[in-house]
Amino acid sequence: MDLGIRGRTAIVCAASKGLGKGCAQALAAEGVDLVINARGAEALEVVAADLRGRHGVRVTTVVGDVTKGEVRERLLAACPTPDILVNNVGGPPPGDFRNWSREDWIKALDANMLTPIDLIKATVDGMIARRFGRIVNITSSAVRQPIDHLGLSNGARAGLTGFVAGLARKTVRHNVTINALLPGPFDTDRIRSTSVVLAREQGKTPDQVMAERAQQNPAGRFGTIEEFGAACAFLCSAHAGYITGCNLLLDGGAYPGTL
Ligand code: NAP
Repeated sequence: MDLGIRGRTAIVCAASKGLGKGCAQALAAEGVDLVINARGAEALEVVAADLRGRHGVRVTTVVGDVTKGEVRERLLAACPTPDILVNNVGGPPPGDFRNWSREDWIKALDANMLTPIDLIKATVDGMIARRFGRIVNITSSAVRQPIDHLGLSNGARAGLTGFVAGLARKTVRHNVTINALLPGPFDTDRIRSTSVVLAREQGKTPDQVMAERAQQNPAGRFGTIEEFGAACAFLCSAHAGYITGCNLLLDGGAYPGTL
């Protein structure tokens, strides 16, 4: 299927690895010109060179922490009129809420709620004026089913989801949609690093923990960043103008409810 977005422009945040990289790859494969971001320059440049070489699209890199206003300004300067915005950033640390200070909460809210809202605010009116816009927020399955130990993530992502639920109904009339992708367990650096911590706690090897976690999923495996990127590209496609305010769970069936 031709997704009908060749020649469009996209900002993809936190895109040098993992799920953000999967989204950047899938959009580039559809002929979308990209501005991609991450804090580390080296991995970001590798991704940019690969996408330019494989797909012949324009790829600009913006190095820096997207939770900082100055970095978001550079992203928008590199792509002042994006057709597509993929909001993504690292997740907050695990822990017990009794140990979290006000500063810990503000950091999580700033990264996982206020940063995407700020980028939406900066781009959505231009999309409305141009009568095309696709905004995808990468959140977490924790929005549907809270994850023990990840209270900061559960809280901050729920805040973003609630805000977007209202706004997404106001923009769709102008062919501007806002949706979220809710990853369950995907094979990325993040899941590998949490497996190292669990392995230490459980006296196992990280590989054992990874294999057990994969087997616990109804699919018997983790999701791939290519599968994640394909879902993102479809939500960004010309065909997805009637899908807005949705929270698409990609978890291999791990969520146990009927709906
Ligand atoms: P990952 O493999 O660790 O990749 C994270 C990417 O984001 C890297 O490119 C990283 O590059 C970049 N990044 C992180 N913080 C950034 C910041 N402040 N500014 C700019 N770039 C930043 O992580 P992932 O698994 O793809 O996870 C992406 C998001 O999905 C996270 O919020 C995570 O909590 C959530 N999630 C993931 C899973 C999963 O199974 N993988 C499940 C549920 C939710 P630099 O380090 O160089 O900046």
